[in-house]
Amino acid sequence: SEVIAKYEVMERVGSGAYADVYRGRRLSDGLIVALKEIHDYQSAFREIHALQLLQGSPNVVVLHDYFYRDDDDAVLVLEFLRTDLATVISDAAKASQPLPAAELKRWMLQILSGVDACHRHMVLHRDLKPSNLLISEHGLLKIADFGQARILTEPGFDASNDNEEYSRVLDDTNNKDINIDIPGGNATCTASDIDREEEEEEQGKELGCFTSCVGTRWFRAPELLYGSRDYGLEVDLWSLGCIFAELLTLQPLFPGTADIDQLSRIIGVLGNLDESAWVGCSELPDYGIISFSKVENPAGLESCLPNRSPDEVALVKRLVCYDPAKRATAMELLHDKYFREEPLPVPVSELRVPL
Ligand code: ADP
Repeated sequence: SEVIAKYEVMERVGSGAYADVYRGRRLSDGLIVALKEIHDYQSAFREIHALQLLQGSPNVVVLHDYFYRDDDDAVLVLEFLRTDLATVISDAAKASQPLPAAELKRWMLQILSGVDACHRHMVLHRDLKPSNLLISEHGLLKIADFGQARILTEPGFDASNDNEEYSRVLDDTNNKDINIDIPGGNATCTASDIDREEEEEEQGKELGCFTSCVGTRWFRAPELLYGSRDYGLEVDLWSLGCIFAELLTLQPLFPGTADIDQLSRIIGVLGNLDESAWVGCSELPDYGIISFSKVENPAGLESCLPNRSPDEVALVKRLVCYDPAKRATAMELLHDKYFREEPLPVPVSELRVPL
């Protein structure tokens, strides 16, 4: 095939749900690249489409080339990046060495600039997490893995590429309420909801408008956990808040073990989701069927960020809040005074990159 003719395939460096990633060498000039072989047509299509829109943004992975093979697999030729933010965090955690504030700020600014680029192009990433933030040996951070991305099309934009995703209708006839006991509250959801999620996950299909089953659970926004189908860019901003908190503490903010546990952790910190926190939330599809007992004394985000400065806590609070409309945008945060105050962010070249 064309890939084989142009690239030498070397060792496998990673694999995910629908993809295998290999290190490769471009035969014409020896350039080291990542060859991402994607086995799912829809996620390949999404990734290529989103990356094409975002080329030229310094904090988004470079797509050099791509091929469709006869077996319907796609192969993306990406710039090779040696490590990721999850490794930066776990190395620091293992060494019990918090990341210096001046380094933290530079990582955050790079993430914000990448997310801002996505959102300016109306690309919703939907799976932001430390392991999808790749890092070059020079400390440049690049957003990667757009396999779950969606391009939000406004009236007047060409939405034809997205039509296939509107074609399946939810069969909601056999709702059977079940109760799930969790520490700190009772949650109820319907059996068909659970089936639906599993089905979506298995088939990678979409129901209604957007699927609510996207992203890695720990970074998933509350509106998604409550089944929203008309969510927006704000779901990425919630994930961003979870990532920033993890950079600050070297621990995941909400490490839920199941979707209900995910919500109960969030509620334990932020309090119950009700109309006083977010006007309109009671209209979320699963609001009535997932109910938690009243949390009298929510722990507050401060308690999740011990020993961090009020400015740092304030930054996380601007992202990790129930009402999507109240979350700060990436652009707003890029201009936040936090990044212009001492200690100033280090230059990219001074970031310590794991070997
Ligand atoms: P998936 O969509 O299946 O999660 P990813 O794009 O996250 O696929 O890639 C899976 C793994 O492959 C990543 O965790 C990473 O280790 C590796 N990888 C992906 N892209 C690159 C790249 N550009 N350079 C180096 N390694 C990469």
